[in-house]
This record gives sequence, structure tokens and C-alpha cells, in this order.
Amino acid sequence: MKLIIASNNAHKLEEIKAILSDFFDEIVSMREAGIEHETVEDGETFMENAVKKAREIAEISGCCAIADDSGICVDALDGAPGIYSARFSGVHGDDEANNDLLLQKLQGRSDRGAHYTCAIALARPDGSIVRAEGYLYGEIGHERIGTNGFGYDPLFYLPRYGKTTAQLEPAEKNRISHRAEALHKLVELLKEQ
Ligand code: IMP
Repeated sequence: MKLIIASNNAHKLEEIKAILSDFFDEIVSMREAGIEHETVEDGETFMENAVKKAREIAEISGCCAIADDSGICVDALDGAPGIYSARFSGVHGDDEANNDLLLQKLQGRSDRGAHYTCAIALARPDGSIVRAEGYLYGEIGHERIGTNGFGYDPLFYLPRYGKTTAQLEPAEKNRISHRAEALHKLVELLKEQ
């Protein structure tokens, strides 16, 4: 059975291919599968968005499809920016502006707990869905530290490492990330089936 990854992000492709290779004959990106499709992410949860993306690609292709949706949830902001993480400041994917806005909203706050969430959905052509979620808990720092990673990583501090996720080596972050946890949970569910 062929699996299509509903993403063209090189980093996600490699991670998903490495972890799920035992379960599928072939794993390809949307581009490799010749599929051009933009899902409207209008779900109210990370999982709703992941399921919608995976389901649409499975329907279009007649193959299995996997999709993820992720973001950062900040306790002092009642879980915001959550599903709006990529466009917190208004411009999709403007990491600098997103981080500036987060620092501004937490100015003077001492409760700085936060977590990354990743929801992953695997949709099969028969309509069945396998779902898994992973988390990474930390705190929002007071200034940017580190140059690795992307998004909110320079502000996302892990007390048990004494580092932000932007200071971790990429391999280390991939080992402990919300995405890795979700993928490993998905593998456990696939093994049970
Ligand atoms: P997407 O699921 O790849 O669309 O990611 C949504 C947004 O959440 C990204 O644009 C980042 O702002 C944020 N985000 C998700 N995962 C991470 C992470 O591992 N580090 C930093 N930011 C992240």
C-alpha cells in the first residue's frame, strides 16, 4: 500500500518516511505523487485540520494519506495562539512578528507555561482514520535564544535541558518533539491493527 504525505516540507517528509517505512510499500510526498491541492484549514482543533487534510488527499489519490497540524498553546493566553500559531501576528509564517507579539502579550507575566501540540491523522481510501497526538511542554522565555529550529523555537525554553528548542541540535529536537511523540503513538496504533 502506498502512503502519500500531505506536505512538501522536506524535514517532515524525512521524519515520517523514516518512522513509517515498515508499514507501507512506498511513501511519497504530494509533489512526488503529482498532487497539487490546498486544504482549507478551517477546523476548530489541530486534529480536525489534520483529519481534513489527510481525508482530502486519500479521496483524491485513492491511496493512504497522512497529514499533521501543529502549533503552540500558551497557558496565560488560554491556549492561544493554538491552531492560529502560523498566523498569530496576522501574516502567515512571519516567525519574527509572531515571536514579537508573543513576548508583548506576556510582558509582565510570570506564568509562562506553554506546550507544542502535534496532531497526526492517517486516512485510508476506505474512509477509516487513525489519529494520534503528541506534546512538548516548556515555558516561554523573555528573549530569543538560539538559532536552530523554526517558528517559536527561540522563545520555547525547556527547563530540564536548560535550553530553548532553538539551542537543541536538530536530531535531539526531533527525538523529543511533539511530532515525534505523535508519530510514535501512531506506529503503536498501526501495530495493533
Ligand atoms: P504547521 O503545522 O507546520 O503548519 O505549523 C504551524 C505553526 O506552529 C508553525 O508555523 C509554527 O509557528 C508553530 N510550530 C509548530 N511546531 C513548531 C516547532 O516545533 N517549533 C516552533 N514552532 C512550531
